[in-house]
Amino acid sequence: MDIQVVRADITTVAADAIVNAANPSLLGGGGVDGAIHRAGGPAVLEACRELRATSLPDGLPRGQAVATTAGRLPARWVIHTAGPVFSRTQDRAQVLADCYRNCLAVADELGAASVAFPTISAGVYGWPTADATRIAVDTLAETPTRVGTAILVAFGDEAYEGYLRALAERRG
Ligand code: ADP
Repeated sequence: MDIQVVRADITTVAADAIVNAANPSLLGGGGVDGAIHRAGGPAVLEACRELRATSLPDGLPRGQAVATTAGRLPARWVIHTAGPVFSRTQDRAQVLADCYRNCLAVADELGAASVAFPTISAGVYGWPTADATRIAVDTLAETPTRVGTAILVAFGDEAYEGYLRALAERRG
């Protein structure tokens, strides 16, 4: 898989699937979640409500992933994943890596060739950005998938530098 790094608002990134750093309720929130729902429009929230009413009555467990329509976003699907809270989730590194692995598994089921990721858990959930970007790069590089391109979307300088450093270290 080709791993690319861009600095952008993820709602402007064209990819088959865009990952949302959601919360377990799936019913919207701040940060990238709010931005995705604003840009995607009501179809995204409607699809999330439908999931809650059917397959996910208790919400989305942290580390898991599920797809919906992308509404008006320049993507075919949004893959929602609920990241661990840095200060509160047990086995947090495992759960954060699970988010990336399960997003790729959902993307494989969908047949998505390209997937854009925000820095999961590095906002309100409090994960130190340099460490969150390293886990993202290492997990994506080590997970077998048919996804051809992962786009790591940095929303700030720290994430951008973290991704580049983690990639450089892997490439030696
Ligand atoms: P979490 O609750 O998983 O920490 P946040 O949305 O608070 O989720 O933050 C996750 C990451 O997404 C942070 O690095 C934040 O800077 C970034 N982010 C926030 N808005 C956007 C956006 N529009 N596009 C891309 N990344 C974003």
